[in-house]
Amino acid sequence: MAERRKFKKRFCKYCEQKVEFIDYKDLAGLKFSLSERFKIMPRRLTGNCKRHQELVTVAIKRARQTALIPYIVDRKNVVENPFENVR
Ligand SMILES: [Zn+2]
Repeated sequence: MAERRKFKKRFCKYCEQKVEFIDYKDLAGLKFSLSERFKIMPRRLTGNCKRHQELVTVAIKRARQTALIPYIVDRKNVVENPFENVR
C-alpha cells in the first residue's frame, strides 16, 4: 500500500486553494483526484471534502467524454507522470 503514503494529510486541496468551480478542461486541477491510471481517487485517500469531490467527479466524467483524459489506461502505457502525454 505504498500509494497511501502520498495522501497522509487529510485536507481538501481545493478548499485550500479556494477553488469554487472545477473546470473539466483544467487538467492540472483534476489531477489531484486522479490516480496514475486516470481513475478517480476516493475521497478517503485524497482528503477532499464532499462538495469538492462531487465537483471533481462531474468534471472528470466530462473530461472523459471530451477525450481529455482516457477512460482506461493500458498496463504498458502507465508512466510516472500521465499528464506528460496529455495534449
Ligand atoms: Zn473542499
